[in-house]
Amino acid sequence: MTSSSGPSTGTPEVPKPGTRGRIHSFESFGAVDGPGIRFVVFMQGCPFRCKYCQNPDTWLTGRGLEMSPLEVFREVRKYRAYFHSAGGGITVTGGEPLLQPRFVKELFELCHGDKIHTALDTSGCVPPAMAEEAVSQTDLVLLDLKSIDEKTHKALTGSGLAPVMRFAKWLSDIAKPAWIRHVVVPGYTDDDAMLGALADFILTLRNVELVELLPFHKLAEFKWRELGYEYELYDTEPPSPERMREIIDMFAAKGLKAR
Ligand code: SF4
Repeated sequence: MTSSSGPSTGTPEVPKPGTRGRIHSFESFGAVDGPGIRFVVFMQGCPFRCKYCQNPDTWLTGRGLEMSPLEVFREVRKYRAYFHSAGGGITVTGGEPLLQPRFVKELFELCHGDKIHTALDTSGCVPPAMAEEAVSQTDLVLLDLKSIDEKTHKALTGSGLAPVMRFAKWLSDIAKPAWIRHVVVPGYTDDDAMLGALADFILTLRNVELVELLPFHKLAEFKWRELGYEYELYDTEPPSPERMREIIDMFAAKGLKAR
């Protein structure tokens, strides 16, 4: 990999001194977090405790590496030629990146100065006022809707649904392009009525370009064990490919672009 083979446009501005982010890790060639090939920044800290979380090692705030937006941007730029030619960009995820909105805003400003596409992967748990400055610099929001049902949302994430619904409606009001992501967990979110209600809610939003339906899997179970956390979905089996096809078709039949 080279660090300077891509054409660069614009001069990145140096962000205000003082902003630092808590970074968990980077992935140079992410293929599942937004369009094209992505440079993925995993940020530290999350208020949710999703039972199927793939990154429980990002949960605690105060951990990770402290970096400035410019330091992270320099990492991103090393791979620009690769993800740019593949129609990609940068995705900031976590954890919950909107716990560190100023950092995200300044990092994305630097990326835009270099014509890098920016995506923000969020659970939508923070108030719009807190998210505003980061979202203003975001080309695409990947909004993870965990469940449309209050009780199920609470059971799956440990948190209430209302802030997430408010966030989704706000994104629609400001016409921010978004993809909705929803993990299908047997016994929790694979109920037809619940999925239908989710699709109906998404149809009320005017900013959604795509719905991604993701099958639950247990690849991160080892992380939970290593961290000493109890993994409650041990006995839950992933949905079959046939069931996933049915669900995707159900969303498509309602007029949503789904995959
Ligand atoms: S919101 Fe994301 S990072 Fe946070 S617990 Fe849920 S799956 Fe994990």
